[in-house]
Amino acid sequence: MDCIFCKISDGKAKADFVMNDGEVFAIRDVHPAAPTHILIIPRRHVPSLADITGKDDAELISKLVTTAVEVARKVSLAERGYRLVWNCRAEGGQTVGHIHLHLLGGRQMKWPPG
Ligand code: AMP
Repeated sequence: MDCIFCKISDGKAKADFVMNDGEVFAIRDVHPAAPTHILIIPRRHVPSLADITGKDDAELISKLVTTAVEVARKVSLAERGYRLVWNCRAEGGQTVGHIHLHLLGGRQMKWPPG
């Protein structure tokens, strides 16, 4: 499968890792949209949030969110605040078809998002 996040997970493509455990890893986004822009990614290939079903997937989502919170603490964003974003499929703005959670911070976020 030609998936960049699977390649990074398998060590076949390089990335700037912030954390890495058996199930989930976090890397710095190559095209940051904020001073801090980190992607929280599961090793398991799930195409998008719309493909989530059942207990195992629900646990995976919970793991991604708790990991994002831990990473936010690690990079000193917890006090100032930050934004977590899931882009889902075409109209949601998803460009990589392997589920991931964006952690954005280091500047004032605006609402509504574009
Ligand atoms: P999305 O548009 O929500 O699918 O987010 C995909 C994100 O992955 C974008 O912000 C890209 O800049 C980022 N991205 C794509 N390829 C890489 C890579 N090799 N390393 C780090 N970030 C990447």
